[in-house]
Amino acid sequence: MADTTNRFVTETTSPAVSWTPASPVLPLNTCRFCATSLLHTFVDLGMSPLCESYLNLQQLNQMEPFYPLHVFVCEKCLLVQLQEFVSAESIFSEYAYFSSYSESWLAHAKAYTEKMIERFVLGSGSQVVEIASNDGYLLQYFVAAGIPALGIEPAANVAAAAVKRGVPTVVRFFNRESATELAAQGLKADLLIGNNVLAQVPDLNGFVAGMKLLLKPGGVITMEFPHLLRLMEEGQFDTIYHEHFSYFSFLVAEKLFSAHGLTLFDAEELSTHGGSLRIYACHTEDRSKRVTAEVVSLREQEEVAGLSRLENYSSFGERVKETKCALLEFLIQARRAGKQVAGYGAPGKGNTLLNYCGIRAELLVYTVDRNPYKQSKFLPGSHIPIFPPEQIRQTKPDYVLILPWNLKDEVMQQLAYIREWGGQFVVPIPRVKAYA
Ligand SMILES: [Zn+2]
Repeated sequence: MADTTNRFVTETTSPAVSWTPASPVLPLNTCRFCATSLLHTFVDLGMSPLCESYLNLQQLNQMEPFYPLHVFVCEKCLLVQLQEFVSAESIFSEYAYFSSYSESWLAHAKAYTEKMIERFVLGSGSQVVEIASNDGYLLQYFVAAGIPALGIEPAANVAAAAVKRGVPTVVRFFNRESATELAAQGLKADLLIGNNVLAQVPDLNGFVAGMKLLLKPGGVITMEFPHLLRLMEEGQFDTIYHEHFSYFSFLVAEKLFSAHGLTLFDAEELSTHGGSLRIYACHTEDRSKRVTAEVVSLREQEEVAGLSRLENYSSFGERVKETKCALLEFLIQARRAGKQVAGYGAPGKGNTLLNYCGIRAELLVYTVDRNPYKQSKFLPGSHIPIFPPEQIRQTKPDYVLILPWNLKDEVMQQLAYIREWGGQFVVPIPRVKAYA
């Protein structure tokens, strides 16, 4: 941690530093999977604060650290990645994201649980383990079904919420060391789950090696992560933030797991987070599971889209600039026409979007969020105030910009009443679009 910080400070206090996409900005920048030097920019979103660092009123008068959001692609293994400018420990030890605040996410978790219990015949003699189990939003359904479940969660505040819900949880970072310790204590999983955590792991090799250690010989790993193919095809640059160190294609995930003796034998494409993959892995030594047609089809799909060739990663940056211009055009025109635009949601992705586009309260007067932890605070960087959702009914804005666009159907349903005063919804990604 100290080394990274010092290096960063040295680099940015030099007046000569310029963030040109063509040049490798940090000489020590190497691929976190294969250790090759990173020389190729995927997209450079400039400087941004940590997207979950919501500010209170007093903090508005203090200095706010900004870090580069410069994403590279490795020329050898094609892993798309961001450097770890801030240690994962400092990001995740107190985390404001409580999964249970999203209804559609809970429904997704419940459906997953039912599917896994049936497919892998889980019962009271099985052991389910979830890495980064958050507030127990998912494991609660296994517990309710009478299946032993254990959560491993580094953020003590969200882990406490899980325990309160009846989900046994250990407060730990998952890595090779903690996996070795837990396995030595006799913990082995029939089903080992990691949803939306792989992107957040600085030491990828240690993490996947740890999963191998914790998996029973016939056990199954399932992991969900945003699919790089969707990110690229739909211009979802706002899913890039400091907490997400890696962005995976199926092809790269396969290479990573294979390097640690794990085989991806099945996969599903999901609509969550704008398009995710759910992968199923087993020990490579486990011959009882057949590789499905979905695996073959995903490989082909990514080949056709050009994800196996470095040159196809270079056009993404231009598309991102275009999205920024279109959103600013919309907001400026709305302001000139005397219309008020408010936001809905205060998700991490909203902060990347607003900071990259330079949007502050003169263009987006406020945003609202259902999470009480975020209410009465201000968005990092942009300092846009966060209110409870009732603010929208009280101030009747002309437009509501939905920052968590992946939940747009749910939000438009919840806020259908804005149509009473002619209010419209606006979604920024994949392209700026208003819904009357
Ligand atoms: Zn690499």
